Amino acid sequence: MDVIVIGAGIGGLTAANALARDGYQVRLFERSAGFEPVGAGLVLAANAVRVLESLGVSLDGEAQQLRSMEVRDKTGDLLSALSTSHLATQHGPSYGISRARAHQLLSQALPREVEVTFNAAVETVSEVRGRVWVSTPGGEYAADAVVAADGIRSSVRAQLPTGPGRLRYSGTTCWRGMLDLDAGDIATEAWGGRTRVGVVPIEDGRAYYYLVADAPAGQPGPTTMTEFAALFEGFGGVAGDLVSRLDTVPPLHHDLFELDRPIWGSGRVLLLGDAAHSMTPNQGQGAVMAIEDAKAAMLALRPGVEGALQRYQEMRARRVRKVQLDSRRIGQVAHWHNPLAVAVRNAAMRLTPASSGDRMLTSLVAPGVALAVTR
Ligand SMILES: Cc1cc2nc3c(=O)[nH]c(=O)nc-3n(C[C@H](O)[C@H](O)[C@H](O)COP(=O)(O)OP(=O)(O)OC[C@H]3O[C@@H](n4cnc5c(N)ncnc54)[C@H](O)[C@@H]3O)c2cc1C
Repeated sequence: MDVIVIGAGIGGLTAANALARDGYQVRLFERSAGFEPVGAGLVLAANAVRVLESLGVSLDGEAQQLRSMEVRDKTGDLLSALSTSHLATQHGPSYGISRARAHQLLSQALPREVEVTFNAAVETVSEVRGRVWVSTPGGEYAADAVVAADGIRSSVRAQLPTGPGRLRYSGTTCWRGMLDLDAGDIATEAWGGRTRVGVVPIEDGRAYYYLVADAPAGQPGPTTMTEFAALFEGFGGVAGDLVSRLDTVPPLHHDLFELDRPIWGSGRVLLLGDAAHSMTPNQGQGAVMAIEDAKAAMLALRPGVEGALQRYQEMRARRVRKVQLDSRRIGQVAHWHNPLAVAVRNAAMRLTPASSGDRMLTSLVAPGVALAVTR
């Protein structure tokens, strides 16, 4: 069987790896001129790490293993800590990693037989008599199935009978970057009401950071460092340290949108990752879900193209929708700014026993809940 994969982001690269290793003839089309990671860094939780390992991609020694993920208030006081190292013995480690390194590992792992074409923005996708035809500026190609991982504004999704779906604005905008900062082995997020700051240690003693603020969509935001620092002033602890180290406005700035409801594909076209279910990054699970999807798509296609979409949806729909809705809710709660509501929320978080956090994390990363995909 031959499969065309569209998009060489984390989802598409994982899919190409999974399918090629399972014996499919794979052609990968990417619109950029090369493997170009967009963004700064990522948390790859244990559920993604296990999928990657099953494809021969190990993060051991390539990324920063995380001991814990902490939420702090604006002053830097601890609100909650999820112990990833505590659960690592059961479910495996979680890592902070730069996107560049993640892309490098995935692209280097691609079996030689995968035909990769850059500068190949797919224009049309259509199904004709049991084959899917894909047009690019360089020509037309056909395959038994298409796995489209072309991101949140997927042009493949827009062409399906399901329609493009609706993008939903989260009400927040985000700046990201990386810097030389030894953040140890703890990922920290500090909640400051209308603003939020995250610091994630990655490989080579560096850190990936993100700064989130309430804002209407489409605003340029601060242009000078003075204005930017004023927007994020008042943070203590690691977050305050991070803000004080920035000397320019971080160049990566995006409004945070998500796809209102997942769309999984149509006929012989399977969507995955952000193309299927772009979510807010509040649980750090967008790329992780794309990685799980990639393996699920391979497993769904294994018995044949007939019924593959249904099998794929059965494996993914419930789980992904829960993660997507939980992420939306966490983002809203994180940006509460009514002082009374914040005080109640913070007190509740401080009083919540660690076992509850363990359960929450387990529900995300444990093999049982992540279906057969991550075993
Ligand atoms: C601020 C922020 C922080 C995040 N943090 C985390 C985190 O810690 N952990 C986590 O798991 N996730 C995180 N995410 C989510 C994660 O970045 C995405 O879910 C993930 O990158 C999606 O991967 P993808 O492969 O589906 O899509 P993309 O990365 O968008 O890749 C799509 C690819 O398709 C290509 N393409 C597009 N159109 C075409 C076309 N017509 N033809 C050919 N190629 C095409 C693009 O050039 C691109 O290479 C975060 C997201 C944001 C915004």
